[in-house]
Amino acid sequence: MKMPAAIEPRMIAPCGMNCGLCIGYLRDRRPCPGCNDPDDSFKPKHCVVCTLKTCEHHSAHAEALCVTCTSYPCARLRQLDRRYRSKYRMSVIENLEEVHRIGVQGFVELERERWACPHCGALVSVHRTACLSCGESVDDTRGTGLTRASLASL
Ligand code: SF4
Ligand code: SF4
Ligand SMILES: [Zn+2]
Repeated sequence: MKMPAAIEPRMIAPCGMNCGLCIGYLRDRRPCPGCNDPDDSFKPKHCVVCTLKTCEHHSAHAEALCVTCTSYPCARLRQLDRRYRSKYRMSVIENLEEVHRIGVQGFVELERERWACPHCGALVSVHRTACLSCGESVDDTRGTGLTRASLASL
């Protein structure tokens, strides 16, 4: 598995997804380059045609994050946020708010700490509950400050 020492700022997608934690990016075989890199045959179709990435605001303002949009947070973004909060213990909206507050560089540095395996320090994928490097189970409450209580209330 790819085990980056740091998460690069370009891994933060316009919707707030941290592609650096995606199993599609971390896998060894046919890794996805991430939302912000040019589409290639390894990027899944649903990410190529994603209606958030291809929405009017992003077409008009290259590299803009959803948090700068006048419709933020739109229904599409809230739906993605619900899915990630309930299935993957991450909130893309909380990610965006944090990027807005502290900047993308500060955010990726915090993310590297938050998603570090407590056993070996490797990066944990948001899509897995065990470390890709050492195989140990990881705390399923890690992520953007989500607690068991807040997840239970979803
Ligand atoms: S599969 Fe989608 S979410 Fe995952 S790294 Fe690629 S573009 Fe990002
Ligand atoms: S919040 Fe704005 S930029 Fe983001 S997907 Fe919705 S309409 Fe597009
Ligand atoms: Zn580990």
